[in-house]
Amino acid sequence: MTTVTRFAPSPTGLLHIGNIRTALHNWLIARKAQLDGTGGKFLLRIDDTDAARSREDYVEAIRADLAWLGLHPDGEERQSARFELYEREFARLVADGRVYRCYETAQELDLKRKVALGRGLPPIYDRAGMALTEADHAARAAASEAPHWRFKLDHDSAIEWNDGIRGAQHFAASQMSDPVIRRADGSWLYMLPSVIDDIDMGVTQVLRGEDHVTNTAVQVQMFTALGATPPAFAHEALLVGAEGKLSKRLGSLGMAELRESGIEPEALIALLARLGTSDPVEPALSVDDLATSFDLARFGRAPARFDETELARLNGAILHHLPFERVAGQLPEGMTQAAWAAIRPNLATLAEAAAWWQVIHGPVEAPPSDPETAAYLAQAVTAAAALDWSAEPWQQLTAMLKAATGRKGKDLFLPLRLALTGVAHGPEMAALLPLIGCEAAVARLGKAAA
Ligand code: GLU
Repeated sequence: MTTVTRFAPSPTGLLHIGNIRTALHNWLIARKAQLDGTGGKFLLRIDDTDAARSREDYVEAIRADLAWLGLHPDGEERQSARFELYEREFARLVADGRVYRCYETAQELDLKRKVALGRGLPPIYDRAGMALTEADHAARAAASEAPHWRFKLDHDSAIEWNDGIRGAQHFAASQMSDPVIRRADGSWLYMLPSVIDDIDMGVTQVLRGEDHVTNTAVQVQMFTALGATPPAFAHEALLVGAEGKLSKRLGSLGMAELRESGIEPEALIALLARLGTSDPVEPALSVDDLATSFDLARFGRAPARFDETELARLNGAILHHLPFERVAGQLPEGMTQAAWAAIRPNLATLAEAAAWWQVIHGPVEAPPSDPETAAYLAQAVTAAAALDWSAEPWQQLTAMLKAATGRKGKDLFLPLRLALTGVAHGPEMAALLPLIGCEAAVARLGKAAA
């Protein structure tokens, strides 16, 4: 059977790191099924039933974030285009007596809750709406009072599912309020359309945050009420910051910010694919390797710690492996494959490539030399001009100067590096010098010797 997963963001804001993690995991599950030949689909479902809060620019940002990460959906749906279907399915629930009309205001409901709590009872909706007669409804209608609708939970059937992460789950419907599914103005709350869509789209696996566990308890009954078998459910523990707390910053840390700070999609994917498992985060794995090894059973129930320093470290490690073709479009104009190979091991972010490319093609500004260093560099000019530049010029240059001056270690290398690159640290000189080339090297050494 084909595995169908979905990512269902509400376009009422930008995606943050936690949403992206959920999207990635759903993508990985579908990808794994594609790779093992059973077939998989990853759907993007825009949950935009809330017309007042949904925004088109957020929809576009969601698409752009997924595209940046390479999480291409196999289909996209929008709830706002599916109201006819919701209406039809709702009519079935009305006919089956699984939804009922209510009129309480928010204040009245609040009061009912307080009274229940005061009596030591659970604050569950008392189903007063179910006791209303057709005459009562007619009277409300005559007074221009429109009802909102609740889904009637079946108190007699136990709600159970085997959660892919949390294990066996059990809820007593009698301990839960019948959820409001439709407002008095006819608009939909999240709960029912989501189930209707999951059925209609053939979703086989719902993976989302553990903040949805109680929604799932209700939705399990909605699937049954609509004559469908519920999909497999899994709820992942939420992300917390490195300090172990839910931080405001983490809740709002978005893709744009990560992108601007130089985080590569590969790094984010490598980290988020494993965060929450005890498996090591490895920089070298391809997404398909991550998909093949992805297993919900590896995830624990404890909150997963997201550490930005770990991400930065991973980003560096991944950059050191990225092939030229992958980054060519983002490198400074004219930068060659050999230059990329030379500087790649020194990068923490791709943006730093520009500074090293400047070091290679110049001009560079070396610090002034003291007389002794200047004399040494003058010898280096002669040596550099006499080298065979086709074979390991740095090794030749340093060997010649070592023999001629008796210098070694830092005294041998550092003045050369400073004169040739303008800075005291950087990529291997053995890799840089051939790229700088004879003419520029001689000129730079000469300038620093002057
Ligand atoms: N729109 C819901 C949310 O963003 C979707 C939850 C779900 O995956 O069903 O929380």
